Amino acid sequence: MMRTVLFGPPGAGKGTQAARLAERFGIPAISTGDIFRANVGQGTALGLEAKEYMDAGLLVPDSVTNAMVRDRLTWADAAEGFLLDGYPRNPDQARELESMLDDAGVSLDVVLEITADVDEVTRRLLSRAEIEGRADDTEPVIRRRLEVYAESTAPLADFYRERGLLVQVDGIGEIDEVTSRLVEAISDSSA
Ligand code: AMP
Repeated sequence: MMRTVLFGPPGAGKGTQAARLAERFGIPAISTGDIFRANVGQGTALGLEAKEYMDAGLLVPDSVTNAMVRDRLTWADAAEGFLLDGYPRNPDQARELESMLDDAGVSLDVVLEITADVDEVTRRLLSRAEIEGRADDTEPVIRRRLEVYAESTAPLADFYRERGLLVQVDGIGEIDEVTSRLVEAISDSSA
């Protein structure tokens, strides 16, 4: 049983690591980016609303995102734990998450920050853009997403450090190596 948040700059390998940790700990990885992309793909009202922000590299408005996560956390698979990947994305969302969990009488166990320098993640994003062809992986949009990360998301480190929940993990290296660091960080935090 583990309730955890994973955050880090775009291109730091967050999605890959989230899937691996979820499997390892038997909890669902809940990626707000994946949920938005699925809705865009299906042409739902939520997808239509989110698409313009995603394509511009901006955050989807908190009201939309928070409501979506509040609903997702009520699913049966999240009752025993979850790994949130890509949410919260700013301190207001983090406060909203706290209140959702408070309402359910539970709390986060640990918050993992994957760290990576800007040059490295920019290089990774540009190469991923060529391979996957994601609509939000063009160079100007990548630059915008990195700016949004620095301005809005990076402050989560202080937010969670103050709450004694933050563990930072170096995201540079082989995928397996980074997974091992994350698993170790989780084990240490629950020791
Ligand atoms: P990701 O796959 O996590 O990089 O997310 C892709 C895009 O989805 C982001 O650039 C945002 O436009 C949107 N998005 C994902 N998660 C959030 C969130 N927690 N708050 C606002 N927008 C989000």
